[in-house]
Amino acid sequence: MKLADTPITQHQFEGIEFFLKRDDQLHSHFTGNKARKFMALLEQPLHEITTLISYGSAQSNAMFSLSALAAIKSWQFEFYVDHMPDWLIANPKGNYRAALDLGAKIHVVNEPKLHPSQYIEQIRQPNEHCLVVPEGGRFEHAEHGIAQLAREILSWTRFEAGQTFTVALPSGTGTTALYLHKHLSPHGIEVITCPVVGGAEYLKQQFADLGETSFPTVLELPTKHHFGKLYKPDYLTWLALEEQTHIEFDLLYDPMMWQCLQYWYPDNQDKTLIYIHQGGLLGNESMLPRYERKYGVLSAEIE
Ligand SMILES: *Cc1c(COP(=O)(O)O)cnc(C)c1O
Repeated sequence: MKLADTPITQHQFEGIEFFLKRDDQLHSHFTGNKARKFMALLEQPLHEITTLISYGSAQSNAMFSLSALAAIKSWQFEFYVDHMPDWLIANPKGNYRAALDLGAKIHVVNEPKLHPSQYIEQIRQPNEHCLVVPEGGRFEHAEHGIAQLAREILSWTRFEAGQTFTVALPSGTGTTALYLHKHLSPHGIEVITCPVVGGAEYLKQQFADLGETSFPTVLELPTKHHFGKLYKPDYLTWLALEEQTHIEFDLLYDPMMWQCLQYWYPDNQDKTLIYIHQGGLLGNESMLPRYERKYGVLSAEIE
């Protein structure tokens, strides 16, 4: 199976012209940057593997993508979480519901002193038939699929001669931005990102932990931003994006990057912006009702 060559479309947001790399259209189940990060595992035969194991949040895009990978490969899939929100158990939605549908076995680790990764190592004790993927796909195997994404961007830019390109995408672990930077910067393409989880220092540490020394440019908002918290400007940005581009963006990561880009843009109008749509739309199914409960059902016009 070969998944690649997603389209690039052209849009405008708040006066910013940009091109959009539609990685949300990679595949209906195996999609976005998680599909790129796990592509190496899809493409390798890995005949000895019977069970895929990972950990993290029960609402994560990574959990869903790994469920899809396991289903394609006919592997068992075990996912370890440190807690499960009651509302989600009562009413399975989004990535959680979809992962259950694909046969994922989601376990809550009831050992207060053990992080799920330690639980897997010390109690679950994976054998040679198990493949353990770190949280969010923050591992070196991710480079293979992200290098392919970089090649697709490069071959597209060759048809748009005489421009200076900047590639923008928000970061969680930073793995996608880091490897894109590694494969695009030698060709004079800058990669810019923002830290959605933790601050800029934390993100740079995550880059360094992957063993690289050259990093993407990190943009920040003037105010502190906590992961997974519900900020009204994020909700309004997301609504405005949909209204102005007619494209659904991810509600967890994309709003912060687009706010950063509005600060970045005035000094960088000479650049041609390529934004990476990293998928994650199934997560909106659980995020949007939370925003609507907190701020009411808003539309972009009401600000
Ligand atoms: C996982 C994810 C990210 C963050 O990717 P990293 O490689 O961890 O930085 C951003 N956007 C979406 C939609 C994601 O699913």
